[in-house]
Amino acid sequence: MDFRPSAKELSHFPFLKKAQDYIKDIFPPLEVLLKQERGKIITDLALTRISHALSQKRSFISHFQQRHEDEIASFVVSRIIASCIQDKNLFDRLARYEAERAYYFLVSEIGTENGERGWNENTPLDEEGYSPLSKYIANEFRINISSDRMPLADYVEIAAPLHDARFKLVNRRVQQGYVEIKKEERYELLRERIRVFLRRDLPFKIPKPLCEQLDPVAEPVKKVYQEQMLQQFGAIDEDAFPPCMKALILALTSGTNLTHAGRFALTTFIHAVGMDVISIARLYARSPDFDAEKTMYQVEHITGRGGTGTEYSPPACAAMMTTGLCVHQDGLCEKISHPLSYYKVRKKDMAKTKKTPETNPNVI
Ligand code: SF4
Repeated sequence: MDFRPSAKELSHFPFLKKAQDYIKDIFPPLEVLLKQERGKIITDLALTRISHALSQKRSFISHFQQRHEDEIASFVVSRIIASCIQDKNLFDRLARYEAERAYYFLVSEIGTENGERGWNENTPLDEEGYSPLSKYIANEFRINISSDRMPLADYVEIAAPLHDARFKLVNRRVQQGYVEIKKEERYELLRERIRVFLRRDLPFKIPKPLCEQLDPVAEPVKKVYQEQMLQQFGAIDEDAFPPCMKALILALTSGTNLTHAGRFALTTFIHAVGMDVISIARLYARSPDFDAEKTMYQVEHITGRGGTGTEYSPPACAAMMTTGLCVHQDGLCEKISHPLSYYKVRKKDMAKTKKTPETNPNVI
């Protein structure tokens, strides 16, 4: 593809091969750079990237203040620091963050829906509204962004981890080995492919002396990360949960694979009662076949942090009955129509009596 992204464009998508080529001859070897003032600037930017990746809230600034090459280098250094820390969850979060960031820059290239100026607003667009850069990136990730269909094998590979029901193959129109893709879904599939590719490359093999050199910056990251995990992985109070949710948790703990409906009901419920994404993943970690990366991705999708912004609500009792998830109804169940109502009433009840449900069975 005969297109040369500008330095500014490369700085927004630092994982592109051309971005890496661009900085190759600008900086000295990392062990030398780290001793320089410029190295400190880049390291600080890298640490900001990591802290954003670990943050519960995502916000992206597309009009950078720093030099393009520093921005690109910070992407590399953040991945090197993460590789030295050697934590699988950190790799997952970093890859997801970079993919979401890329998605944001793709959709905001010429402006946002709320009237913000695009970071690349003067780029030409083709008749379908795609810039040369967006086509270039899609091409690098082997996606034809201008096409309204995708080969079945590619689609299955990309969409398999996506939780959203609209991506399930049974809900797609498949014709002659191709899956139809709506225009607004193309960047979402591209985001997923970017995430997978970025995650696949981690961790890097970093020489021990370089990790030791990075220790002073990696240690505080590790500490903050561990504190965050400890804080968020704290004890989960499930006493006020309704019987259906307790049953799902019990099934999870005893190694039963939850159905799609079961996972959806449990995740949306515990998210609605205030459990954060990491704690939800922690709950799923009780399952013997726990896959952190897959779980985090699905959980973030359901809870609206996966880029679509759609936050799903837990199903009401009627829907739970339809899917066979309503079990062991108790006295309170007869008076409510939603598992969340059960939880609210039970909590209030527990606060009043200051007793656990075990010593205060189903009386309201
Ligand atoms: S009645 Fe509602 S709250 Fe009670 S077990 Fe069934 S679905 Fe859950």
